[in-house]
Amino acid sequence: MKDLNVITEAEIAVPTHPVELRHFIDGAWVDSADGAVSERVSPSHGGVVSRAAQGGEAEANAAIEAARKAFNDGRWSRISGKERAAVLLKVADLIEEHTERLALLETMESGKPISQSRGEVEGAADHWRYAASLARTTYGDSHNTLGEDMVAMVLKEPIGVVSLITPWNFPFWILSQKLPYALAAGCTCVVKPSEMTPSTTALIAELLVAAGLPAGVCNIVLGYGLPVGSTMTSHPEVDMISFTGSTAVGKKISEIAAASLKKVALELGGKNPQVIFPDADLEDAADAVAFGVHFNVGQCCNSSSRIIVHEDIAEEFTARVVELSRQVAFGNPLNPDTQVGAIVTEDHQVKIDGYVTEAVAEGADVKLGGAALSVDGVGEQFYQPTIITKLTSSMRIVQEEVFGPVLSVLTFKTLDEAIELANDSIYGLSAGVWSSDVHTCLAFARRAEAGTVWTNTWMDGFPEVAFGGMKQSGQGREIGRYGFEEFFEVKSVVMRVGKGSRGAWVGGK
Ligand code: NDP
Repeated sequence: MKDLNVITEAEIAVPTHPVELRHFIDGAWVDSADGAVSERVSPSHGGVVSRAAQGGEAEANAAIEAARKAFNDGRWSRISGKERAAVLLKVADLIEEHTERLALLETMESGKPISQSRGEVEGAADHWRYAASLARTTYGDSHNTLGEDMVAMVLKEPIGVVSLITPWNFPFWILSQKLPYALAAGCTCVVKPSEMTPSTTALIAELLVAAGLPAGVCNIVLGYGLPVGSTMTSHPEVDMISFTGSTAVGKKISEIAAASLKKVALELGGKNPQVIFPDADLEDAADAVAFGVHFNVGQCCNSSSRIIVHEDIAEEFTARVVELSRQVAFGNPLNPDTQVGAIVTEDHQVKIDGYVTEAVAEGADVKLGGAALSVDGVGEQFYQPTIITKLTSSMRIVQEEVFGPVLSVLTFKTLDEAIELANDSIYGLSAGVWSSDVHTCLAFARRAEAGTVWTNTWMDGFPEVAFGGMKQSGQGREIGRYGFEEFFEVKSVVMRVGKGSRGAWVGGK
């Protein structure tokens, strides 16, 4: 392999030179026709990590045409599930073989801790394996009760060419929540990563080739949302768009796709609450709250950025979370002990700080943090773990996605009030409840407006379990059997069998 050398854990260090990335179209690595490139500077270490071809409409069109041709000629869409599964399983093995290299690039581009990147790369391999199992076990329906001379089948067919557009917060993980499932279904794909974190997506092309994926089946175009993502959304030869990112861009995509009635699957923002009852294991709950809000510096659609605590325990519980948050290892992403790394861009850091400053001006109380953080040797693009009280549900910091390590604390008296506060959001991605009473947990789970409800845990996910949002958190589901089903069209085949006539319609005989 050219760029993707296997490196060992001992060799993990700031790379000495940027990785060079090109588009992968119809089985070939190509530069942009106009020679444009973009560079990604590490948010923690400052140097240029990657130099990527910056695509335009020409590259997006070429990739879509290659995917269409590959879909139509059946080189992937009409082979057996067994053959598709064999390729996906090889990709999983190759991902594991290259974990260190992929994790290092992920960390250098996103600012996330190296131990977390390793976990995400390994978890991504598991998605490829699970998708391989689905490739072999999908089936439709048969109807044998329609009468002696009729039989019908409901077939599932790959939907066609799918555009996959991914964000910067979990580049390889989110890619692996989409690509293997689309491929397992027999679709062909065009992929666009965020221009801030293109490396691991670009490098998977080498693994796909090594695993034997036919040319044209997966095409990768690097570049910005405009014009690459927008071309992938509007092009007439695209049948479906699977997008993860902001609700604002999700709405735009939905609007554009509506013009040609393309199918759209959207995984968008969240303002995810955890509700804590007095009878919960408060130690465990406090730890889950610290994890829920600080993991990935809060740059997480699933960030638990709101907690709703019973008023009898609110003060004591908040103090526990403050104490635990002080102990979270914020710092240099390349230190294997670091739990929380850098903020993705300076602009984003300013945005996070803006929410905190505004809340304070409106009377909120900052119990911890509330400002940028400087980390020895790796600069100032960090943010302190921040916990804020004396809030009302209507404030912007409680309603909007801060996408930083900033926790809003609200209180409640009754289950009904807790549910009302939890559901007081335009979002409906995930929610959590902490109580030792299973009836309380179930009552909350049933009434919470959220695609996922965790009871006495937070952010446990499995390839088998569907993920996605209600309300403005999205449309459709990702991963699991439900996520896999998104990539199919359903076709009913109704067959007349036997020698009998259907009876003439004309003349009524
Ligand atoms: P965006 O929604 O802007 O970007 C996500 C992806 O969509 C990127 O690949 C982006 O490309 C692409 N894109 C942007 N505009 C278009 C378009 N018009 N048509 C098609 N594709 C497009 O998210 P950001 O990365 O800018 O983050 C902004 C905010 O979104 C965050 O602060 C957070 O609140 C939220 N967000 C939510 C995520 C989630 O997991 N639910 C993930 C990331 C962000 P490019 O950026 O390269 O131009």
